[in-house]
Amino acid sequence: MRLRRDRITRKSAMEIEKMRVVGRLVGEILRDVRAMVEPGVTTLELDRLAEEKTRAAGGIPAFIGVPGPRGPYRHSLCTSVNDEVVHGIPSGRKLVEGDVIGIDFGIVLDGYVGDSAVTVPVGQIADEVKQLLKATEESLFQAIDRMRPGNRLNDVGGAVEDYVEARGYTVVRDFCGHGIGRKMHEPPQVPNYRSRGGDSNLILREGLVLAIEPMVNLGVADVLTLSDGWTVATADGKQSAHFEHTIAVTESGPEVLTLVDAENYLTTAAL
Ligand code: MG
Ligand code: MG
Repeated sequence: MRLRRDRITRKSAMEIEKMRVVGRLVGEILRDVRAMVEPGVTTLELDRLAEEKTRAAGGIPAFIGVPGPRGPYRHSLCTSVNDEVVHGIPSGRKLVEGDVIGIDFGIVLDGYVGDSAVTVPVGQIADEVKQLLKATEESLFQAIDRMRPGNRLNDVGGAVEDYVEARGYTVVRDFCGHGIGRKMHEPPQVPNYRSRGGDSNLILREGLVLAIEPMVNLGVADVLTLSDGWTVATADGKQSAHFEHTIAVTESGPEVLTLVDAENYLTTAAL
């Protein structure tokens, strides 16, 4: 990947303030999109809502124009249903009771990017899928809690790995989180597991901003790309969950820039 040629940057207080503004907008719109999820809604309707609200706020949907195997991406959201892990394309597909939909969303505003994702139940879902969603979101916050000065990058990914593997789930290893700032994808790469090499031993310092995004599967960790060239799905067809926030390391600990309601930070708490 090109990432390695760039340097890991730490953001100034002024840059973090801009990332706070875009992060909050991402969180607010994602909350509105989440509220629209119900049986009968199409993934394209969710995408339209996200794009309208982004443009109304003066932002640019961050995913539009991202290069892919068959030309640039054209949507504001990635919508990944059931066994789809990430990068599902909005379409006329109607959601049905019992589905789960991963909604991934990014905005560019005033030169800075925010990136967040949530997996949402459609009506009543199977208990084992509820537990998968809860564990994945909790693992994200376990990782966020490690984003403190002096910790290492491996502490972040290791927190996801430890939490979900202890519960019998698997961590997708083909995709990872990332640094974020002026660009959506900046170094370092942030695997959701302990790794060797790369930036795994990087010491976290104030001003580092990361998008952490565990992708966790009910069955095997293996994934494959569907014939549309974008959609990544589990190899065994079992469900997957994806949650993401953009987080700054501050002197006093992590600040979750894409979190709107800090008191109710777990969207899956009531499941
Ligand atoms: Mg994302
Ligand atoms: Mg991301």
